[in-house]
Amino acid sequence: MRLSRYFLPVSKETPADAQIASHRLMLRAGLIRQTSAGIYAWLPIGLRVLRKIEQIVREEQNRAGAVELLMPTIQSADLWRESGRYDAYGPEMLRFADRHDREMLYGPTNEEMITALFRDAAKSYRDLPRTLYHIQWKFRDEVRPRFGVMRGREFLMKDAYSFDLDEAGARASYDAMFVAYLRTFARMGLQAVPVRAPTGPIGGNLSHEFHILADTGESQLFYDAALEDVTREELLSADASTIARMTSLYAMEAEEHEKVTDCPVPAERLHTRRGIEVGHIFYFGTKYTEAMGMTVQGPDGQALYPQMGSYGIGVSRLVGGVIEASHDEAGIVWPEAIAPFKVGLINLRADDAACAAASDELYAKLETAGVEVLYDDRDERGGAKFAGMDVIGVPWQLIVGPKGLAAGVVELKNRKTGERQELSIEAALARLAG
Ligand code: ATP
Ligand code: MG
Repeated sequence: MRLSRYFLPVSKETPADAQIASHRLMLRAGLIRQTSAGIYAWLPIGLRVLRKIEQIVREEQNRAGAVELLMPTIQSADLWRESGRYDAYGPEMLRFADRHDREMLYGPTNEEMITALFRDAAKSYRDLPRTLYHIQWKFRDEVRPRFGVMRGREFLMKDAYSFDLDEAGARASYDAMFVAYLRTFARMGLQAVPVRAPTGPIGGNLSHEFHILADTGESQLFYDAALEDVTREELLSADASTIARMTSLYAMEAEEHEKVTDCPVPAERLHTRRGIEVGHIFYFGTKYTEAMGMTVQGPDGQALYPQMGSYGIGVSRLVGGVIEASHDEAGIVWPEAIAPFKVGLINLRADDAACAAASDELYAKLETAGVEVLYDDRDERGGAKFAGMDVIGVPWQLIVGPKGLAAGVVELKNRKTGERQELSIEAALARLAG
């Protein structure tokens, strides 16, 4: 992508209402713009990151055996009356009427809709188990939308729903999602801590929240320091024994921790930090299948209510969450797996014919090799170009200048380490396209 043709409104100012680094950086680096309170437009570079995160989430859901579909954002109030949640949900739900005065809502979640869909399709125990998911925009009219996309009103969520014959099956579906979550967050370069979550007054049996540790998180966590020692490799190859180990390690939100009278973790191993909730998994048994009359015929011919679970990931929140976990004074430092571009190609002298020709050629070769490259071909000062690429956080900067070119070299800078290296054009290409 040529920057001269792109839409990347990088602003130097730090907006006053942006209290945390990720919010400031997302505005400064041109990822998002607020269009009304808690509602954002995703600008091209922000959209690229959002799509990459979405894709990792999708791959891990598929790998866990979940099946993707897409449900609408708009739902009917009648559907929610079936479960009894229409009145219970409260002012967070955005309600409105269509031209025929039918009551509608913008979905904050999809338990009712998926249960209704599955109810109409599944007749027998042979239709179980199934886990279905979609990645769709949600609306929750949050009292205090803040921190940019971290607590928006409109936000992108992956929500999966499992249907099982019995409790043991539901537990297996829950564990499959648990593993998927560990892998998903590890692939994004995040260390997510599973925290045992309260299940609320109705139904709920088992629930975990996944938090990334960050000083700007909205939750205060207390946890066994051993959770920090779990390695990325272990998370990527997570299995049942990983779940057993991680769930045996103490981790609670402050409110729950305060209720615990005999904390099993010795004081020196009890760490406390703030966390950002990026995922939540929930086993709630037959709560919705009973309320909404969803049965299948069991192996013995008797009708039974399937056991359900639901599993959310805050896809748009993760964009902010990753930045909270990975930035420095100069800007964002993207992990390569979700970077909007792999390479930022900087032509230091757009007015120099040799520099422009060499840069154009490098750009063409990188593009041909399938490398995602953002090419700063604008007629700007070098300093501004460096600062711009640093804010955007592209992992590799490839710098073409007149002096180097005369000596047959270009410069390659690693955004994360700041390490710089002079290489021949061929060596740089081989390195980046390899
Ligand atoms: P929170 O406690 O942060 O309000 P929640 O418990 O209400 O979240 P869930 O219903 O568990 O949220 O939704 C699943 C996931 O969706 C959350 O783990 C979070 O990552 C994301 N999410 C929830 N609310 C928002 C929001 N307002 N903005 C962005 N992401 C959100
Ligand atoms: Mg939650």
